[in-house]
Amino acid sequence: MEQRKIFQQDLLPKYECLLFDVDDTLYPLSSGLLEECTHNIIEYMVQRLGIDEKEAPGLNQFLYKSYGTSMAGLKAVGYDFDYDDYHSFVHGRLPYEKLHADFHLRTLLLSLPVRKVIFSNANKAHVAEVLKRLGLEGCFDEIICFETLNQSDYASGSAFAPTSILCKPQEIAFEVALTKADINPRKTLFFDDSIRNIQAAKRVGLHTVWVGSSLHSEGVDFSLESIHNLKEALPELWQRDDFDKSENRNKNYRKMGVETSVVA
Ligand SMILES: [Mg+2]
Repeated sequence: MEQRKIFQQDLLPKYECLLFDVDDTLYPLSSGLLEECTHNIIEYMVQRLGIDEKEAPGLNQFLYKSYGTSMAGLKAVGYDFDYDDYHSFVHGRLPYEKLHADFHLRTLLLSLPVRKVIFSNANKAHVAEVLKRLGLEGCFDEIICFETLNQSDYASGSAFAPTSILCKPQEIAFEVALTKADINPRKTLFFDDSIRNIQAAKRVGLHTVWVGSSLHSEGVDFSLESIHNLKEALPELWQRDDFDKSENRNKNYRKMGVETSVVA
């Protein structure tokens, strides 16, 4: 009986969940979307918040570095603004046509016999638009985004509005996200292009994959120059099929068909 228990332990998958950032992780930094986003943020600071044109770029950098996102920083230093207005100004005007369908990544994701969850600081509409442009709709089991961590009923200016915005790399944001999605960090691989997000993820117990880099750094378990290298770097993620089926372990995999491989 005891031996059987040990045998079953050995067969348990190391990873039950894959947690993915979106921007500059599911598509490359070279898309140019980040520069456009930064440009829109600076324009928002000047046009909507009345911040001096010359000071806005430096302040934006400072706030991003200090508070996780520019939006969280603006809120933390006392600017009051409507979250929806910010998102439609900053994300709503992005040139999404810069992103193209990535059939190779879609095939990889759909063939993975593991639960897949998005964890992005961006708003729901942005995440949905990016996934649509990349052809990745239906590849993820759940989406954790701005609205998940920052309830929409906390309207700006409301007496009940929180004084801060929850976002990566705050450890509390990871903890809330993991609890909401019922994710065990010890059995989860987290993918992100930001080293500070990776390091925060490590502190809360997640296994980490630094995407967009081939370097090693503190808190990094694996690094991938591109998310496309996933299968070469972590082939074990695909090696659970027989066991999973026999143990009724992964319902999602059985629901999803494996598509014909098409290289983007
Ligand atoms: Mg990112």
